Amino acid sequence: MTAENHPFQAEIKQLLNILVHSLYTDREIFLRELISNASDALHRAQFEALTNPNMLDAGAELYIEVKADESAGTLTVSDSGIGMTRDELVNNLGVIARSGAKAFVEAIKANQSAGSAAQNVIGQFGVGFYSVFMVADRVRVVSRSYHPEDTAYAWSSDGGDTFTVEPAERDSRGTDIILHLKEDAKEFLQTYRLKEIVKRHSDYIAFPIYVGDEETPTNRQIAIWRQDPKELTDEQYEEFYRLYTLDFEKPLLRLHLRIDSPIQFYALLYIPASPERNVFSPRKQPGLKLYARKVLIQEYTTDLLPDYLQFIQGVVDSEDLPLSVSRETVQATRLMATLKKTITGRILNELKRLAKSKPEEYKPIYKTYARFIKQAPAISPADRADIEPLLYFASTRSQTPDDWVSLSEYVDRRALNQEEIYYVLADDFASATRSPHLDAFRQREIEVLYLTDPVDPILLMGLTEFDGHKLRSVDEADIDLSGIGKQPDEQPSAEPLPEASFESVRARFAALLGERVAGVRESKTLVGSPARLVSDETGAARQMYRVNRLLDREVALPVKTLELNLRHPLIHNLSSLIASNADAELTDAVIEQIFETALLQEGLHPDPASMADRLVLLMQAATKA
Ligand code: ADP
Repeated sequence: MTAENHPFQAEIKQLLNILVHSLYTDREIFLRELISNASDALHRAQFEALTNPNMLDAGAELYIEVKADESAGTLTVSDSGIGMTRDELVNNLGVIARSGAKAFVEAIKANQSAGSAAQNVIGQFGVGFYSVFMVADRVRVVSRSYHPEDTAYAWSSDGGDTFTVEPAERDSRGTDIILHLKEDAKEFLQTYRLKEIVKRHSDYIAFPIYVGDEETPTNRQIAIWRQDPKELTDEQYEEFYRLYTLDFEKPLLRLHLRIDSPIQFYALLYIPASPERNVFSPRKQPGLKLYARKVLIQEYTTDLLPDYLQFIQGVVDSEDLPLSVSRETVQATRLMATLKKTITGRILNELKRLAKSKPEEYKPIYKTYARFIKQAPAISPADRADIEPLLYFASTRSQTPDDWVSLSEYVDRRALNQEEIYYVLADDFASATRSPHLDAFRQREIEVLYLTDPVDPILLMGLTEFDGHKLRSVDEADIDLSGIGKQPDEQPSAEPLPEASFESVRARFAALLGERVAGVRESKTLVGSPARLVSDETGAARQMYRVNRLLDREVALPVKTLELNLRHPLIHNLSSLIASNADAELTDAVIEQIFETALLQEGLHPDPASMADRLVLLMQAATKA
């Protein structure tokens, strides 16, 4: 069989071009990329060997070798890993999807048009196998798969438009990556230089890396998470995190656990600066990397953390997990449940400790991940007590949206005779501050929490009380504030509408608004606002509209009761207008606008722009001489 030619996908060509032609200052990372691929291949071989005694070279040593041939001008990186079949060579090394090359090319383009150098982008992101073309003008990959019936194949490319695949010779399982180094990359033939690079970027690789003819591995092979924290520096922890996630922002939290009971394990966990993974991250899915006795069992293990903590990145390694298990049964074991419980408990304890004693470290975490943490009481009710101290809210006492109070602070400083915790649901801080429901609370100096996060309705489904104090929404119709807080001292300025006048006002509202309201009645609490919408529903039903909206479900507007402030001048004017029967159109417009303003203040108005025509009409009437 002769060599076959294959074209690269279009994006790969562009990528190769960019890599080759950009002045890349940190070219040495090609070796890190190759070693990382080799290490993955070795982990996969190790895992396969657990269950498949028939694989090729089942008992072979697992190692990586980096060897230069000065006379030939080549550098070869070999591994005894899982190898690749002919099809895998074609698919893995010729297709873009693998290393996110397409996204990479787009990022480079965006960066170039923004005027900054392409190398910034390249410097930040791993580009996998293709980085070899920064130092080599020709690359040959010889590989033999672990399937006993497969033979060896060679893939080669000079970084041009095509690559070739042909049968080759290799006696044992594994892969050789042979780089024909460019003239200006001959430094990578020097053993001391190669050793330096291996030490710097690949010290923690779990398999021995032999450089040149040396018999002792260059890397220490101690997984960082198995080391004593006292022997590790911040830089080492951060370097590991960067290699692990390719996230160049400093993580918000690091937690290194070495636990002996109830189950022995090591864990190194990080809270990333952002919940968004960059497209180049080698971590393609959520989940922790799980090792059992140093063998990689599962790349993305989501069973080790509750759903609301899935933003956490890191590694878990346990001596106690049985090796002889398939991935499916790992999930089911009692040991896994114990691990999850222990890890979750440790993380929550650490967060509680920070919230209490290092708020400056906790607040950025909460700001970034509140929308995850707040789901906890609803989805993991058992963790509620641990979550409560982690919750913070803005309130009527906040000057800015980030001026927070915890539930226990709120309870400690509650008003005289106040037993319940009051909150207002709103779309944002500014609308919360303008809620008409707050009139009565402000007057009595009762603090009200602002629940403005889209997930707050979900939080409320799991958190109905705190420390014996019920959480109540300020729009609940039956809240009675008499006797609570500061007693309003000044007498209300205006007289309320007399009973009979109110009845005709009420009837007019009811007739016009029809089924859009559950009823129209007098308010006992409004001070500065003419009207508000209140709910008679209780419990979770009250939250359902917002929850459904959050889930993007089509839902009808909740029907609420409209309360009118009988002392408000607007209601007085309206009453006279109705009595004189002067301008029916204007009367209706005012009533509609009062209702829709209340909807708007609730964050419930489905189409605020639709009010524009009516507002013009009202202004016209108001400006009439
Ligand atoms: P990534 O490692 O991000 O997937 P790469 O371009 O570095 O992207 O590698 C592409 C794929 O080629 C890998 O996912 C793997 O399947 C395969 N591969 C690369 N190097 C090796 C190797 N030494 N042994 C076995 N497979 C390899």
